[in-house]
Amino acid sequence: MTQIIDGKTLARTLEADVAREVAALDSMGAAPLLASVQVGPSPAVELYIRHQARAAERTGIAFRRIEFAADISERQLQREVERLSQSSEITGVMLQTPLPPHISVRAVRRALDPWKDVEGVHPANLGWLLSDRPGLVPCTAAAALECILSTGVELRGKEAVVVGHSETVGKPIALLLMERLATVTVCHHGTADLLQHVRRAEVLVVAVGRAGLVKCADLRAGAIVIDVGINEIECAGRRKLVGDVEADQAHEAAWITPVPGGVGPVTVALLMRNTLRAAARQIQTG
Ligand code: NAP
Repeated sequence: MTQIIDGKTLARTLEADVAREVAALDSMGAAPLLASVQVGPSPAVELYIRHQARAAERTGIAFRRIEFAADISERQLQREVERLSQSSEITGVMLQTPLPPHISVRAVRRALDPWKDVEGVHPANLGWLLSDRPGLVPCTAAAALECILSTGVELRGKEAVVVGHSETVGKPIALLLMERLATVTVCHHGTADLLQHVRRAEVLVVAVGRAGLVKCADLRAGAIVIDVGINEIECAGRRKLVGDVEADQAHEAAWITPVPGGVGPVTVALLMRNTLRAAARQIQTG
């Protein structure tokens, strides 16, 4: 019988720890302030912001929404992000994506101070993953790892397979797994036989954004399956959210994250943890 990794419960536990540390920082007069930067209207972004604002409230982190018009230029947005990075009041900046097509997310991210990049996806934070210098770890990759560790598995020596090699999710989770001495295979659209890798995975992380990419029947018995993907599909005339792994209780995986309610809430909790860490570091470095 497959067990569900309950992301909501895990997130509440992580948030409770963050809230205690935020209260301690507050008492030193150093309250974290998370700025959410949004460009143009987007229902998906509104949903993310709602979740983030609620988590900020639960953890005692101040949350400020900053909105720019959809026709802002890339250069202007970079300048605004630089300005927020220089603010002594704002301790963390969350750049909400997707951005309008005329703006490169990478270019705007580079304008952020890495220690205010609470999503952990600035090139410096990604680079620090390769060394022992502590930066801000990418939230979604860290959330996938938290979900895996919550099962109590010892990762050393495990066959781990990551499907998807994006720089913000797939690559960082592969590095985090490797750090824990799992043997990691990373699959992408150039992989010749995806199924062969999926079938032998003891730990499988799927982060692609394609509903039904991985079928339950193809999972290895006893596998831990982390479904990072979020896809909106039409089902019986209604829109619903599903992951990349076909949802079916009849498979033999030992553990699986649901969508929604798996990696997503944990990612938001770790965004709060990064916001706390960023604020704490800013106090230390003056
Ligand atoms: P992305 O940047 O679009 O990356 C998708 C990756 O999947 C790419 O590396 C792509 O490889 C690979 N891919 C595409 N088709 C494939 C196939 N048939 N077989 C194997 N690999 C394939 O997306 P992302 O930002 O990493 O996000 C991935 C998914 O996670 C999305 O559904 C996103 O919504 C979700 N997500 C969830 C959270 C959360 O908190 N739960 C956070 C972030 C993202 P190529 O580049 O080689 O084509």
